[in-house]
Amino acid sequence: MSDQYQVFAKSPIGKFVIKNLGLPSPLALDRFESATPVIKGAVLVGAAPGGMLSDSISQVLSNVHANSYAGNNVELQQAAAKSGLTLNAFNEGDKESKFKAVIFDASGIQNSEQLNELHKFFSPIARQIASSGRVIVVGLTPETASTIKQAIAQRALEGFVKSVGKEFKKGIAAHLIHVDADAAANLESSLRFALSPRSAYVSGQVIRVSKAAVVNVDWAKPLAGKTALVTGASRGIGEAIAHVLARDGAHVICLDVPPQQADLDRVASEIGGSAVALDITAADAGEQIKAAAVAQGGLDIIVHNAGITRDKTLANMKQDMWDLVININLSAAERINDYLLNNSGLNENGRIVCVSSISGIAGNLGQTNYAASKAGVIGLVKFTAPLLKKGVTINAVAPGFIETQMTAAIPFAIREAGRRMNSMSQGGLPVDVAETIALFASSASTGLNGNVVRVCGQSLLGA
Ligand code: NAP
Repeated sequence: MSDQYQVFAKSPIGKFVIKNLGLPSPLALDRFESATPVIKGAVLVGAAPGGMLSDSISQVLSNVHANSYAGNNVELQQAAAKSGLTLNAFNEGDKESKFKAVIFDASGIQNSEQLNELHKFFSPIARQIASSGRVIVVGLTPETASTIKQAIAQRALEGFVKSVGKEFKKGIAAHLIHVDADAAANLESSLRFALSPRSAYVSGQVIRVSKAAVVNVDWAKPLAGKTALVTGASRGIGEAIAHVLARDGAHVICLDVPPQQADLDRVASEIGGSAVALDITAADAGEQIKAAAVAQGGLDIIVHNAGITRDKTLANMKQDMWDLVININLSAAERINDYLLNNSGLNENGRIVCVSSISGIAGNLGQTNYAASKAGVIGLVKFTAPLLKKGVTINAVAPGFIETQMTAAIPFAIREAGRRMNSMSQGGLPVDVAETIALFASSASTGLNGNVVRVCGQSLLGA
C-alpha cells in the first residue's frame, strides 16, 4: 500500500507546506539490494578505554571491507592491525566528513562516571551522520558484567541509544548490541545486520548476543542448503519473508489456509519453493509440517508468521473472536513447536522465529485478544529459549505499523497516526520484518536466542 503523504512530502509544494507547518518529513530509507556491499560509505569507529570488543568489531569491518576511520586511539589501531583492517585517520576537529555509520565499543566502561566517554565521542560528530545512517553502540550484557557498577553503566547504554534514535532524524537508526562477556566471537551476524540497510526500520532496539558455536557461512547466501517453512506466506509480511529467505539461499515451503491456494502457489513458484495448504490450528499441523519437509532433508527453520486480528472492545467481544485469535496467533505455534521439538521435527542448529507485535508490548484499545496473543508469543520465546539444545534457537520480531492489507483496513485517522508516530515518520515495509527474521534464521546467528526485536521505526507505542 502506498504512503500518499510520503509522495506528497517529496513534491516541491509538499516540501514547502511541511517545512512551514513543522510536519514530519519522512525520508525514503535505504533498503538492501542483493550483490551490494554491507555498507556503502565511511564508517567511524570509537571505543572507551579497555574495550573488550574492539578486536571483534575490527574483524567484522575488515570482513565487510568497510571504509573505516578512527581518531587517535591506540587500542583501536592495535585491534585494526590484528584483523588486517585499514583504519584511516580521522582528525577530531574535522567538521566536514560524513559517516554512513558510527560504531562505538562501550564495553570498557566500568562505571557511571565513565559514561562520559559516550558524550566525548558522539557529541562532536553528532551532525556528521549521513541520511539513512547508523549509530551502533556495542556493550557488555549487564547480567554478565563482573561488578554491579559495570552492570549499571552498561544498562545505561540503552537510554543513550534510544534517545539518539529519537534525536538524529534523517532516517538514522540507532542500535545497541549487548554481547555476553564470553561471546565476542558471536558478534558478526548482528553487527553486519546493524550496519546494513537490512535494518532500515529497526531502531532503538537491543540485540543480545550469547556464547554459542561459531558457524561459518557464505554471507551472500547464509541459508544455502537450508529448508524453511513460513506460515501465512500467501501475502503481506509472510510473502516478503518467503522471498527474503529464498534470496538468502533457503528452499522455502510456503504455508497458508486452503482458500489462499492460488496466491500460495504463485509465491512458491516465484521463489522456486513449494506450497502446503494447511490450517495451522489443525490438530495434526505439526505432523504435516514435519512431513512436508522430509523430501528436503528435514526442516531447519520455521517462521510462525500467520496471524489474524478480530478487534472489538472487551465489552463487545464475542467468545469466538477471542478464541480464534488466541488459537491462531499463539496456541497453534505452541502446539507446532511442541510437536517438532519432541519428534525430531527440527534439524540441529534449527531456528524458530515468531512474529509478535508492538500491540503485545504496549497493548491497544480494541485488541485485548490480539495483544494477549502477541504478548504470549513473547512469553513463548522467553521461556522456550533456555530449554533448547543442539544449537536450536527461538527469537521473535515485533512489528509496528507495516504497510500491508492488515493495516490498510484500519480507519484513515488511526492509520495515519500509527504511520507517523515513530522516529522514521513512516510505516515499515514487509521486507523490513523479513530482513530481521532472516537475521534470526541465519546459521551464523546461533548466539541469538530469546531475543525480541521490534521492527517499528522506534514507535512511540510501548517504547
Ligand atoms: P495478513 O496480510 O492478514 O496475512 C496473514 C496470512 O496468514 C493470511 O494469508 C491469512 O489467511 C493467513 N492465516 C490466517 N489464519 C491462518 C491459519 N489458521 N492457518 C494458516 N494461515 C493462516 O497479515 P500481515 O499483515 O502480513 O501480518 C503477518 C503477521 O505479522 C501476523 O502475525 C500479524 O499479527 C503480524 N503483524 C502485522 C503487523 C502489520 O502492521 N501488518 C503489525 C504487527 C504484527 P486469511 O486470508 O485466512 O486471513
